[in-house]
Amino acid sequence: MQTSPDPSSSQPIPPDSEEALSLLAAGCQQLGIELPPGALAAFARYGRELVEWNTRLNLTSIVASAEIQTKHFLDSLVSLPVLVEELGQPLPALRLLDVGTGAGFPGIPLKLALPALQLTLMEGTQKKIVFLEHLLAQLGIGPVTLVHGRAEELGRLPAHRERYDVVVARAVAPLNTLAEYLLPLVRRGGLAVLYKGPSAPEEFMAARHALKVLGGEAIRLAPVTVPFLEERRFLLLVKKVAATPAQYPRSQGLARKRPL
Ligand code: SAM
Repeated sequence: MQTSPDPSSSQPIPPDSEEALSLLAAGCQQLGIELPPGALAAFARYGRELVEWNTRLNLTSIVASAEIQTKHFLDSLVSLPVLVEELGQPLPALRLLDVGTGAGFPGIPLKLALPALQLTLMEGTQKKIVFLEHLLAQLGIGPVTLVHGRAEELGRLPAHRERYDVVVARAVAPLNTLAEYLLPLVRRGGLAVLYKGPSAPEEFMAARHALKVLGGEAIRLAPVTVPFLEERRFLLLVKKVAATPAQYPRSQGLARKRPL
């Protein structure tokens, strides 16, 4: 017999159980996000695949149902109301790139909430790409492009350079390094949206020079509240106001070793 699990329990999300996602549903309501039909079932499937594959691949340290809903799903979705404030409602069919997506965060939750997104997921680790390929087939969501490689190399290629309306990243690198990964990929007039923790104000101060050199202008450092989470979170929105000079991103790991 199958029982409805307590969403606050530490159990992994059971297969395709929408009832188990009450935190996600309530959190979306708090954030003013209306999920499209079928999205909750897709999130449940996502949680199940994540937990299953995590036993073989080290994808995430977060495997408890409540934490997957809050620290992965809702934390990823928290940028949607901010994007709507910046770009207007309804959001256009943005070309959105998620750099260092790992197991798909924040890109896939954003796509599940906004099916019209033209989503590209970029990831440097091949085994994570294998998981993402499998996951996307299971979720049956519209075209999503997977790109294996490092942002600092792909950002030099015409296929990716200045091609995206919005480039997002969560938990990938300190801001001054991340700026060099992300800004070359953003089209002029587009946005980089950086998900950051409590150190965001200090990281922002340290990255101001890098942002300017790379053609960015910080337009907002927004404190955000993720439903059911205490920790402080910020979103930094950087507008691409000028072309990124051709010498960036630098090769040989310089963005990381010697941030601008
Ligand atoms: N964004 C996901 C999340 O929030 O759960 C994953 C975060 S994980 C800590 C960082 C991921 O970024 C890893 O999967 C790593 O392989 C990838 N990564 C780090 N630097 C990268 C780069 N320069 N280009 C592409 N991927 C990168």
